[in-house]
Amino acid sequence: MKSISRRSMIEISGLSAVGSLIGASTFSKFSRTTGNKLKIIVIGAHPGDPECGCGGTMALFASEGHEVVSAYLTRGGAGIQGKSYEEASQIRTEEALKACKILNTRAEFFAQLDGNCEITNKSYTEINNFIRKENPDIVFTQWPIDSHRDHRICSILGYDAWINMGKKFALYYYEVTSGNETQNFSPTNYINIGSVIKQKSASCMAHVSQDPEGWYVNIQNTIQRFRGIELNCEYAEAFVRHNQNPESLIPK
Ligand SMILES: [Zn+2]
Repeated sequence: MKSISRRSMIEISGLSAVGSLIGASTFSKFSRTTGNKLKIIVIGAHPGDPECGCGGTMALFASEGHEVVSAYLTRGGAGIQGKSYEEASQIRTEEALKACKILNTRAEFFAQLDGNCEITNKSYTEINNFIRKENPDIVFTQWPIDSHRDHRICSILGYDAWINMGKKFALYYYEVTSGNETQNFSPTNYINIGSVIKQKSASCMAHVSQDPEGWYVNIQNTIQRFRGIELNCEYAEAFVRHNQNPESLIPK
């Protein structure tokens, strides 16, 4: 892991330890006062997953000059009725790129098959190598008991990389709620996304082929309002922090 100052680590710690106090101003602290640029990776099985669960958080980190990567296991080729796998992949890749541009993130795509993501030695190695090369400070991955198989595989691949890198980066899980996918999710951390809600909304609405009125406007928007009520703000995203994240190693 790249060396970051103790102060910076403490402020990352703040991200997890006092989650209910976290807002955009916190990001300002650890980027501008230390000069450290963080690397954040959000892994998702499909185009739209990172944006749905983390779009506001990604926009906030990016707005403070941190490097944010949206890593998609698939290009969502099974996701448009009446289109071939290749056609749908093309359309959804373009939508993902548009969303990343809105959030100021970099897109990375892997060659897993939509609806048929696999855990194999090869897929473990691929994601491990990617994350090792990127050397992130924070990784957000999907929740391990989402109803979608691909999400569960995404979750395990992120977790496996965390183990293999000696738990050096902070690992968080995010929720996606379209179609009742994330279940039994009791957040440990919240981020106030009110200041970037328009950016997040635009990034989700960029997935035109996926009926964003249905999953974003009608469902996800309700969830982020509800998370906002829990945090006592208008809109929030919620996360589960792995309790062995590296901030526990901060010297007293
Ligand atoms: Zn998905």
